[in-house]
Amino acid sequence: MSAVDGPSPGPRETDCDEVIDRLYAFLDHELSTADEVDVGRIQRHLDECAPCLRERDVEVVVRQVVKRACASDCAPETLRVKILTQITQVRSG
Ligand SMILES: [Zn+2]
Repeated sequence: MSAVDGPSPGPRETDCDEVIDRLYAFLDHELSTADEVDVGRIQRHLDECAPCLRERDVEVVVRQVVKRACASDCAPETLRVKILTQITQVRSG
């Protein structure tokens, strides 16, 4: 497969892979002003791509749970992984 330069031939301007890849930075507001274009692209992609939107929702839920756990004692990374695993099981089951 050869890469095509210029406008994307697909219906979406951003790859799902790219969106997922940047989702965390997007949610963490780590995308700086220099990345404003990316923020817009990711937002637009989420608006029209259900799978990525679901991925975003899951991550948001995980963050809320972890944040709540953090209120008393900071949640270790293992807890986060555990929650993610549970959600993955729920989604696939
Ligand atoms: Zn997508």
